[in-house]
Amino acid sequence: MSLRGRFILSHILPVLLIMPLLGVVLIYLLETQVLLQSLSNNLTQQAVIIGALTNGRPDIWSNDEEASAFLTQLRNQVQSDVVLLAPSGDELAASQDGPDEANATPDIQSLTNGRRQVVITYQLDEQSATIFLPVIDVNNQLVGIVQVSDELQSVANSFSPLARFVLLVMGTGLLLSVLIGLLLAVRLEKPIDAVATAVSDIANGRRISAIPETGSRETKEMAHSVNVLAARLQELEDTRQRLLANMVHELARPLGALKAAVNVLREGASDDPALRAELLEGMDNTISHMEPLLEDLARLHGQILGNLTFNLQEIPLGEWLPPLLLPWRAAAQEKGVIWHSDLPASLPAVCLDPDRMAQAVGNLVSNAIKYTAVGGSVTVLAGESANEVWIEVADTGPGIDQDEQERIFEPFYRSNRQRRFPQGLGLGLTIAKEIVVGHNGRLSLDSTPGRGSTFTIYLPK
Ligand code: ADP
Repeated sequence: MSLRGRFILSHILPVLLIMPLLGVVLIYLLETQVLLQSLSNNLTQQAVIIGALTNGRPDIWSNDEEASAFLTQLRNQVQSDVVLLAPSGDELAASQDGPDEANATPDIQSLTNGRRQVVITYQLDEQSATIFLPVIDVNNQLVGIVQVSDELQSVANSFSPLARFVLLVMGTGLLLSVLIGLLLAVRLEKPIDAVATAVSDIANGRRISAIPETGSRETKEMAHSVNVLAARLQELEDTRQRLLANMVHELARPLGALKAAVNVLREGASDDPALRAELLEGMDNTISHMEPLLEDLARLHGQILGNLTFNLQEIPLGEWLPPLLLPWRAAAQEKGVIWHSDLPASLPAVCLDPDRMAQAVGNLVSNAIKYTAVGGSVTVLAGESANEVWIEVADTGPGIDQDEQERIFEPFYRSNRQRRFPQGLGLGLTIAKEIVVGHNGRLSLDSTPGRGSTFTIYLPK
């Protein structure tokens, strides 16, 4: 059975079970407490009237025929079964032939004492009331007994308009509860259905759009979790695809160059020692350009596996930074990029892993030089505030678009705008950020497209 069907059933089942039970109980109470009671009151009144009519007619109680004649006179006025009994309890006359349906026997003892007797029989198929009324003469003697009995008409008969009304109310209630059940079931089922579809789409590798986070707290949480899960998976998938694309791109270029060099060598260039040396030199250069790519990958692999451990030391920044930047200064000058730096010797000592932090600073400076055109400038500054030290790397390169400023820190993300520069795998900033954050610091970016970019490392003192 579908989820919706189950929901509906669970909503109407209680009504289906309770309503008939309630009906039976109501009918029982109505019959025993109200109807039978009023029937017996009615019968008692009849018996009292009949008893009064026999007053002054002792012949009725001594003569069967007189008794029968008396009942025949009554027949038109009284609908109930009337039996006249002698003081001994023997039947003198009955208004109806056949056995006494009520099956009640008089208690002569109490009747002799002048007490009337009410017998109520309640069986599933038949409910009846019988009244025994003693007739007492002036001498206080029991002269006869008037027995009046009648069956209770079934409630359905005597109360048919009421019964119809009750049925109508019950039917309407049932219909309403089915409708409400349906509504609730649909509302309950909808988010679950959406989540099930989304999860199955994810399982089948399809891209899903965020499911609406509405409804009860639980369904909201469920939808939210699925959305987060889908976003994470999508992110991983995007990262994987970017990695593959970048790898193919980065490996294809040097491999193409190597292949071409090998072909030239094969076709006889090895006979020319000068050309051969030049080609081998080129191949060597190409191979050494590929090495940083592999290093980046290996590092990222290590970080993803979570073993980014730091070998923390007290490092006086004022002494540590200048020699670290010397090779970068040479690289900038070699490219034709103007280099500025201002690194106060008074900078405090900070607890850090010198190798890792050198890598983070190096990635920023290397990017600044890489993305700055000849004639531009790169500036490295450092300083301290109340509880932080900062190292700033600024360039006059192309800058980074606002919408890319977050994304460039994602693994393998490379901007589309910087295509004219030889980009790397897109891991440099990811690694730099991981290292800085690992030192409880932060890496901020301030960039105006067309003007340049400023990356700043903040480290707690
Ligand atoms: P890559 O190895 O491609 O340089 P990074 O993670 O270091 O990877 O940088 C990601 C992207 O951010 C680069 O592809 C480039 O588009 C952009 N970027 C990084 N640094 C700069 C910068 N100083 N100026 C302009 N764009 C930059």
